[in-house]
Amino acid sequence: MSRFLDLFINLQEKVDEFEAAERRLAGVPDWMAELHEEHSARKERIEELKQTIETAATERLEAENAVVELEAKRDRYQEQINQVSTQREYGALLAEIDATRTHLEEQEAKKRTSVERREEAQAELVTEEEGFAELDERYRVELEKWEAEKPSVAKQAKGLKKAIDEIRAQLPRPYLARYDRIAERHDGQALAPVHRLERTNKRSPDIWHCGACNYNVRPQVVVELTSSGSFLLCDSCKRILYLPPDAGEGEEDES
Ligand SMILES: [Zn+2]
Repeated sequence: MSRFLDLFINLQEKVDEFEAAERRLAGVPDWMAELHEEHSARKERIEELKQTIETAATERLEAENAVVELEAKRDRYQEQINQVSTQREYGALLAEIDATRTHLEEQEAKKRTSVERREEAQAELVTEEEGFAELDERYRVELEKWEAEKPSVAKQAKGLKKAIDEIRAQLPRPYLARYDRIAERHDGQALAPVHRLERTNKRSPDIWHCGACNYNVRPQVVVELTSSGSFLLCDSCKRILYLPPDAGEGEEDES
């Protein structure tokens, strides 16, 4: 059984490495993550500003058209003033003229705001684009470097996949199925190392805990792991427990 636990530890290592390589291939490597983030954020801001400029331009045009229409409407009403015969018609016409004036003011204000917004965005865009040019160049250089590195990472991932398949082939089906089920529940992390708690009093008995969830591991479980290397689960998170090589380091004889 101990042989299997070692194989599972090996399997977990390979799976972790494989997934790290896959993640890197799908995105960018750690060494350019920061630059990538900055580049993406500033690129997004530039796009936002361009969008603002475009929207403001459309709004301005709409307001300008509305102003032309409302002015014509107002002029028509004013011409009609001389043609009305009753006081009631006159009053109604004045009310229409008033309402049209209010709409005109609203549209004029809308026009001014959209012009201001466009100018502000344009000014920020100039500054953003100036700063971005240098960043973009640096990004391009790093991206090229990463593209050159990619094939070797892909090759590494392929090798890891092969190693994973080989290890899996050596493991009995029921164990493998169990491992897979546990891994599925824990985001691919089926194993948990057992750690010994630092003691202040050297004379007190050893206290062990699960490296994944921190829950206590019973001494009996540790004994079984040492002696048989059995397939034992953490009482709390139900991951497969193992003793890392340095788990018992500095363990002194209590007698
Ligand atoms: Zn646990």
